[in-house]
Amino acid sequence: MDESTRRAYLEAMGVTVWVPRGSRGTDADTEETARAASSVPPATEPSPGTSTGPTSLPEDDAAAVTSFERSAATSDVASMDGETLRRTILGCTACGLCETRTQAVPGVGSLTADLLVIGEAPGQEEDRRGEPFVGRAGQLLDRMLAAIGLDRQTVYITNVLKCRPPNNRDPRADEVQACAAYLRRQIELIDPKVILSVGRISAQSLLETDETIGRLRERWHRFGPNGAPLRVTYHPAYLLRSPGQKRKSWGDLKAVRALLAD
Ligand code: SF4
Repeated sequence: MDESTRRAYLEAMGVTVWVPRGSRGTDADTEETARAASSVPPATEPSPGTSTGPTSLPEDDAAAVTSFERSAATSDVASMDGETLRRTILGCTACGLCETRTQAVPGVGSLTADLLVIGEAPGQEEDRRGEPFVGRAGQLLDRMLAAIGLDRQTVYITNVLKCRPPNNRDPRADEVQACAAYLRRQIELIDPKVILSVGRISAQSLLETDETIGRLRERWHRFGPNGAPLRVTYHPAYLLRSPGQKRKSWGDLKAVRALLAD
């Protein structure tokens, strides 16, 4: 990528780039992109719920299937088409969140998308509008996607939980478990080339780990029934509060872009 293109991407994300005279930062960034593009092996070894180092996808390991995935394996949901799934989510009463939500938020985008974005749960505005990632955080996510040449019509965006927890509290394990069948079916239907897990709660819920988001970033994981490559990045709401982290998020997106282009 040439420097002007890189700058355009960063500006689209709202990243302010200051390059001191004589800095090697540009070259390092370019080299990072090249590494991401060249060092990830072909996705021929599905292995749900596993992780590996920064430059390779995990090996197949059936024992690594998470309880998140196992929980959905026997559900009726497993045979639903996209529209039936959406209507089922809208009418779901499988956990207590149905009593406090305004409406369930199944997801938005293309069921043939190469990239599946998975956040945590709907917030207040998402609960009101019935769409994931709206408001300022959603606008930043849109800019992040635009930075890698995508938009919310060409990807699919959803959450681990389809209903808003009261007062935006963290999802509980039993709620994640109750909702897991829907996400699993969405992944089966979409069969994405890459999954982007957005935010700590999403990453920890999907990968069933207490590791910090800092430790989960910058490496590939496998997730879902087909063992799709999964990358972790910061939630745009966090990036709005901590704009200094946008450069790290940009690195995550470059890795995703490289694998999508592979
Ligand atoms: S969070 Fe999921 S399981 Fe709970 S009511 Fe909503 S759709 Fe159903």
